[in-house]
This record gives sequence, structure tokens and C-alpha cells, in this order.
Amino acid sequence: MEIEVLQKDDKNIRLLVRGVDIPLVNGLRRAVISEVPCMAIDEVVVIENSSILQDEIIVHRLGLIPLKTDLDSYNLPEECPCKSEFGCNLCRVTLTLEAEAKEGTRTVYSGELTSENPDIIPVNDKIPIIKLAKEQRLRLEAYARLGKGKDHAKWQPVSMCTYKYFPRIEISSKNCDACGKCVETCPRKVLAKTGNKIEVRDLMECTLCQDCVDACPQNPRAIKIAWEENTFIFGLESTGALPPERIMTEAIKILDGQLRDLESQIKVTTSAES
Ligand code: SF4
Ligand code: SF4
Ligand SMILES: [Zn+2]
Repeated sequence: MEIEVLQKDDKNIRLLVRGVDIPLVNGLRRAVISEVPCMAIDEVVVIENSSILQDEIIVHRLGLIPLKTDLDSYNLPEECPCKSEFGCNLCRVTLTLEAEAKEGTRTVYSGELTSENPDIIPVNDKIPIIKLAKEQRLRLEAYARLGKGKDHAKWQPVSMCTYKYFPRIEISSKNCDACGKCVETCPRKVLAKTGNKIEVRDLMECTLCQDCVDACPQNPRAIKIAWEENTFIFGLESTGALPPERIMTEAIKILDGQLRDLESQIKVTTSAES
């Protein structure tokens, strides 16, 4: 397998992966979505709520706030030596919220949650939780834990994880009269007309939709869209819980562990043994 980083910033990563087949690349996608753990609020004690929203609605909203995650300092609750339902300092983080609308109606934002660990905080301060009318109050204590996306979407470290075949675009210089119809039709602006030539401007943007082929008036068509077998563009967008490259390395580690586990369970018997 060969991996090349095409693009990376603090939330997104896009890779060119060569020499793998669909089951493997899809296994990696599923590991990213459902196996890589991240922190989310899991239990809440509502001490006071005089707002018009029921406790359950507020608690559900709190659960969906992405939290910055420290995978090296915390254990998954089921793997923590404390073996306690309440958790301990190694598997639980407490966040508190004390909000009151003293002057008039106001919105309470995620930035008002106070965490006992300054590293485990909402990824964004401006996520609205509730609107309080004058003199309404909300006081609560929330417990965040590590979890996996396969148990609840709030523990998914990504908002998006996809892959697609690596496209290949061929334009026949013999048949193409540079009419430009394919350039106008392409929804992703992959193609460009330079003088009397059609050029590929941004190959990575091609979705293999074939609209350019349908638009070509030549017979046979002067443009052909294909893809490279076993070569994929793999991309993910982190919720901000973990850096995108950490999500990838964790997913690879998890997939590797799962495959080793499967291997150890498979017993090959020869015809002499059976
Ligand atoms: S296949 Fe679709 S996205 Fe790709 S170049 Fe043609 S029209 Fe554009
Ligand atoms: S539509 Fe066909 S003929 Fe026209 S520029 Fe594109 S490839 Fe060439
Ligand atoms: Zn514990």
C-alpha cells in the first residue's frame, strides 16, 4: 500500500491510496466512523432548570457538542481498571454549567461549560445550547466519557469520511474540435479550455459523473472518463475532537488489531486432519 497526502489542515485530510482493494479501504472508512473513540457528554445531572425546554432535550443537545479529546490520558469505561459505573479520573471528565438570564433573554453557548480538565472542552465556544428568558436559570453537572461511533453517533470523531476511485480522463486530440461543451457542463469545473485545447484543470475534483461524456457532440465521443483500479482518494473531516491524522493512525491500528484477531480465530485444516 502506498499513501500520499494530497491535502491537510487542522480539520481535513485527503489521501491518495494506491495498491488496496475496496474491502480494505471500506474497512478503514468504517473503522474511522465507528471504532475510533472520542469524548462526548454521556450523563447529566440537572440541578435546576427553569427554562421552557425539558431536561431531556437539553441533555441530548449537550451530548452532541463535540469535545476536544485526549486519547492518551483517558480509558474507555469498559477498559478502565476502576470497573465502576460512575467512572474515575481516568475514564470520566466533569463539566459544569451555571447560566442565568439576569438582564433579559439570552443564549447560552457551549463556551459557558466549565471543564475540570482544560484540555477536554467543546471544540467551539459558539454552539448554542438554549435560550433563557429573563430570570430563567440552568444549572447542571455533565459527565463526558470516551465512546465509539458504533454505540452512538455523538462518539463519531468525523463529520464525513469517504473514498472514491482515482479518475482518469482521456481526451482524443483526433476527435475533439474544442467546442467547449464538456467544459461548460462539468459541475466541478474539472476541465478548462486553453486556446484550441481542452485541459484537465483539477483531476481530484472529478466525481466520475460522466456528464461531460454525455455533452460531447462527437461520434464516437472525444472524451472518456475512467478510473484506476485499486487507487482511491480517501478523505475525512474531523469534528475537531481529534486531529485528522490521529484519526487515520488510530483507525489503521484498530483495523490491524481486528484483522489479527480474525486471523487467530481461523483454523486451517488440511484434508488429512479432517
Ligand atoms: S465526469 Fe463529471 S466531474 Fe468528471 S470531468 Fe466529467 S463532468 Fe466533470
Ligand atoms: S465536448 Fe467533446 S468535442 Fe467538445 S471540447 Fe469537449 S471533448 Fe472536445
Ligand atoms: Zn475509570
